[in-house]
Amino acid sequence: DLDSTFYYLETLDVPPLHTVFNRFSYKGDMGKVLLVGGSPGKMGALILCAKSALRTGSGLVTCHMEDSERVIVQTAVPEAMASWGLIPNPEFYDAVGIGPGWGTENRARLFRQFLQDFKKPIVIDADGLNLLSRNPDLLPLVPKNSILTPHIGEFTRLVGSAENHLERLKMAKGFAVENELILVLKGANTVISLPDGRQVINSSGNKYMATGGSGDVLTGMLTSYLGMGYFPENAALCGVFHHGLAGEIASKSKRRSMIASDIIAAIPETYIQLN
Ligand code: AMP
Ligand code: MG
Repeated sequence: DLDSTFYYLETLDVPPLHTVFNRFSYKGDMGKVLLVGGSPGKMGALILCAKSALRTGSGLVTCHMEDSERVIVQTAVPEAMASWGLIPNPEFYDAVGIGPGWGTENRARLFRQFLQDFKKPIVIDADGLNLLSRNPDLLPLVPKNSILTPHIGEFTRLVGSAENHLERLKMAKGFAVENELILVLKGANTVISLPDGRQVINSSGNKYMATGGSGDVLTGMLTSYLGMGYFPENAALCGVFHHGLAGEIASKSKRRSMIASDIIAAIPETYIQLN
């Protein structure tokens, strides 16, 4: 039954998924995005995520973090705003990404409160996923069609361990269908499992993307597309494909020297190639 539900995501599939903005667009139309994450010693994850969302096209990016860390973000990303403490007026935001560098200590309460207040699909990565693994009662609160982006370690904690990758893909499909969520299982060929049972294998990307911060860049891109009003499925497909393509473009000159910031720097070129 697996064969009939696998699809392969290629270059020509992507341009038709993009929305078009007109000459009267205002920054508020391009997506007001909130990124929740970072903790002392892991602020880079939130910063990469914010820069990535901005390069992907978000109109307004706000980073939510601990009070003590806000100068770091405000200095590193002047285009982003900062917020701390509780999350006031979550409904102000078009899309939210949660988890990069967040840590899991003392986060469950804020996460639960946020999930109770915010009803639109969100992106959950990294420590956001680890919080879901540790607090299974949070999972039913996650808005339908939210995008979860585990690597294999995070997947194993969240969904369970598998004998081999084919079994893991079956588990991913089951998880996406049962919970009505989009599960992006990251790796050399990222597989996107959709709530209707379809599974899409990404064809872009390469081994040079195996470097710290790559995943945080993906979270910024996915949240950015959600914020621009893309259907969650299209946001997942566009984000995953553009991210891999940016990695390919950057690695042409960087090879094994590539770092996550180089992937962000290559996002503009992906729009030229996927026009
Ligand atoms: P993370 O582990 O959260 O930093 O995410 C790593 C990101 O880099 C994911 O988007 C992966 O799909 C991508 N990535 C890591 N290793 C490879 C690889 N060998 N080939 C292609 N993409 C990779
Ligand atoms: Mg990660």
